[in-house]
Amino acid sequence: MNKKMHLSPPHLSGNELKYIQEALDTNWIAPLGPNVDAFENELARYIGANEAVALSSGTAAIHLALSLLGVNKGDTVFCSTLTFVASANPILYQGAEPVFVDSEPETWNMSPEALEKAFKEAALAGKLPKAVIVVNLYGQSAKMDEILSICNGYDVPIIEDAAESLGSSYKGKPSGTFGKFGVFSFNGNKIITTSGGGMLVSDDVDTLKKARFLATQSRDPAPHYQHSEIGFNYRMSNILAGIGRAQLEVLEERVNARRFTFSQYYEELSYISGIHFMPELENTMSNRWLTTLTVDEKETGISSNVLLQSLAEENIEARPVWKPLHLQPLFEGAKYYPHKDHHSVSEQLFTTGICLPSGSNLSEEELMRVVDCLKHELKLKV
Ligand SMILES: *Cc1c(COP(=O)(O)O)cnc(C)c1O
Repeated sequence: MNKKMHLSPPHLSGNELKYIQEALDTNWIAPLGPNVDAFENELARYIGANEAVALSSGTAAIHLALSLLGVNKGDTVFCSTLTFVASANPILYQGAEPVFVDSEPETWNMSPEALEKAFKEAALAGKLPKAVIVVNLYGQSAKMDEILSICNGYDVPIIEDAAESLGSSYKGKPSGTFGKFGVFSFNGNKIITTSGGGMLVSDDVDTLKKARFLATQSRDPAPHYQHSEIGFNYRMSNILAGIGRAQLEVLEERVNARRFTFSQYYEELSYISGIHFMPELENTMSNRWLTTLTVDEKETGISSNVLLQSLAEENIEARPVWKPLHLQPLFEGAKYYPHKDHHSVSEQLFTTGICLPSGSNLSEEELMRVVDCLKHELKLKV
């Protein structure tokens, strides 16, 4: 059996141990400490945000952002439908109601047309959302100019879920800096990792102070333990922040490696009719976290599911594109706005899309194993 090939495994830089060792030597094993402060400062500087708060996960960052925006029971929050469930779960934590917005074909991200329609209906009904969660899928930025203009028109803040797009940019501006809040994840499969962790960023320094307060059990300034509001235990540990510092040092290399992987897949497969790679919008730079493509069964004679199966048989981990959240049993009954009437882009991407192994440590030999498997299957049926 061939060695198992993973979709997006961790890729250490070699410097992690240095920072972990420092933490151990100075006994900074407690959560918080110098690595946490340094990691926050280094990440904020890297993306050009005023402030960053290191947290236990990207999900925690989204939850805190919603909480800071005053999202509560009975409120609605607009959210991209084509994403990982973590984008929307925190809406439920707050007892609020998600309204899902479809993708558009040029970025696979939130459709400004569908968003506009959702806003118009919400305004008519006299109930605007408290926030809009915009996801940058697989590293590609959403159409931020259009989305910002719509949201600003209704004076509704954006939470930019940049969990998959650290290192990407839109019109020269780093991903994660477009909304009131930006969210990053350092889960094991992301472009850089702390094994588990996240970051909440914003230019609003005072609000992020409040985020730190909420993330440490909302402890009032008093000599004893006093609490006036609900708090969370959401901070990142000093040891994990040490891993993050070493990872951030090589982020640029990781982006280049993933983009190179994309270009190799593209070179090998893009000529095949019916195979279409995820586009990169003009004036944007995707970190190409995952190389993804769609399979038009009418042209290839073979479905994305059969291709996934063949890859699995070769011990290659590939996945379908995210299942849209409006199709998830968890969100049954939630409102959904398609890109156009009778044209749901996210549903089409889900049924035709494949994510290929894309780790920054993927060898050329491994990549060719994937390519050969796909070509073999496609030629048999074409
Ligand atoms: C990974 C991910 C998250 C959640 O991050 P965690 O650190 O795993 O909690 C949120 N949104 C998207 C789009 C993600 O891919």
